[in-house]
Amino acid sequence: MSKILVVEDEDKIREVIIAYLNKAGYSACEASDGQSALHEIDKQPFDLIILDLMLPDINGELLCRQIRGTNPVPIIMLTAKASLNHRIQGLSAGADDYIVKPFDPHELLARVRSVLRRTNHQELLADRLEYGNGRLSLDSQAKQVYINQEPINLTPNEYKLLVAMARNAERTLSREQLIDMVMGIDFEGDARTIDQHVKNLRQKIEEDAKNPMFIQTVFGAGYRFHGGGK
Ligand code: CA
Repeated sequence: MSKILVVEDEDKIREVIIAYLNKAGYSACEASDGQSALHEIDKQPFDLIILDLMLPDINGELLCRQIRGTNPVPIIMLTAKASLNHRIQGLSAGADDYIVKPFDPHELLARVRSVLRRTNHQELLADRLEYGNGRLSLDSQAKQVYINQEPINLTPNEYKLLVAMARNAERTLSREQLIDMVMGIDFEGDARTIDQHVKNLRQKIEEDAKNPMFIQTVFGAGYRFHGGGK
């Protein structure tokens, strides 16, 4: 049974979400501010966090980044702000998906299922693959990525994107193909969401993010992963 933490200060909204999650067979815990959310996350592991952007004690984006610093748990952000700009900000803070208030609880449940399905599926890669003369390694058992043998933290979507690209090394993949591989075919956001994930990933894995070796832009087409030497 998947365990989900709901972080929302508005009692009515939190209670409705908790009721729907429990009814759908999830084990739902609740927190009404950032501090109690961090306390819950310290106490027990979660499969997913639903996080409101506007909390009384801490900005949801900051909290998202803080959780992301140590924990790869998927995060769905809730927000009243509908603009694309805020959507991109949420994703750059490490959120895996985004839902705008007011929302239909059934839509939220569909997103929850979709995110859990993406993050639970079995990897087909060999245990450990190395690229760029050993600079980058992927351990698919541990779901851990290393740069020069040092573990680095990727969000679940960044990890999926890297694995999807590495599996298709030297092939150009369009943004739409990458969206399908990483977020699932029912993702309804803008294909440029992938650009933000690529940007974040380059910061983490490339020696020079402005002159990337692994993730190359193919103008007008998409992206291509170049594995370099073993
Ligand atoms: Ca709020």
